[in-house]
Amino acid sequence: MSGRIGIFGGSFDPIHLGHLVAAEQAREQLELQEVRFVPAARQPFKVEGHEADARHRAEMVRLAIADNPYFVLDLREIDRGGVSYTVDTLRELKAERPADELFLILGADAARDLGKWREAGELPRLATVAVVTRPGAAPPAGAGISLVISAPGIDVSATEIREAVRAGRSIRYLVPRAVEEYIAAHGLYRTGD
Ligand code: ATP
Repeated sequence: MSGRIGIFGGSFDPIHLGHLVAAEQAREQLELQEVRFVPAARQPFKVEGHEADARHRAEMVRLAIADNPYFVLDLREIDRGGVSYTVDTLRELKAERPADELFLILGADAARDLGKWREAGELPRLATVAVVTRPGAAPPAGAGISLVISAPGIDVSATEIREAVRAGRSIRYLVPRAVEEYIAAHGLYRTGD
């Protein structure tokens, strides 16, 4: 059986409500059978690396998506190791599931940079590129972007969450409860290194 499969990649350092709302709106509006969350081993543009190690980032994704039957954790980039390139991930998925239609889900900031990604021209051949934007916001212009998903903006970033934890401020309601507890239990993001 063929399916419509969403791919949502990121650092997820940590996963937060902005990611979850974007993925759920993409799932509903594109009528996806599943959305695969793919934590990067290392993101090409984040030269300083990630703050939490890959296993922690993946575990937080697992906790955050556990109650959504459409959401799946895909560990292939972490298992592959090294710098993670979306083009490799899409090629692998395409080979594994030739009958499926792939949708690459991007936030507006990622969409702006898409032209700089490795083999950027190949991405729209492998997947339909869908960008999540706020209602009323101008859809980001860019080669290869073919769908726009309108979603309520949750104006939070992982950077802000890491900063809040470091400063001892609340992150309640910005991340799922289980993620908040995981961060506290493992002492993540308390220091800058
Ligand atoms: P950081 O602050 O560490 O750069 P981030 O919060 O931007 O992290 P990433 O894991 O780098 O999160 O992003 C993964 C994907 O989620 C990207 O496509 C990004 O555009 C999208 N995204 C991030 N934050 C939001 C948000 N608040 N609303 C919608 N999409 C988002």
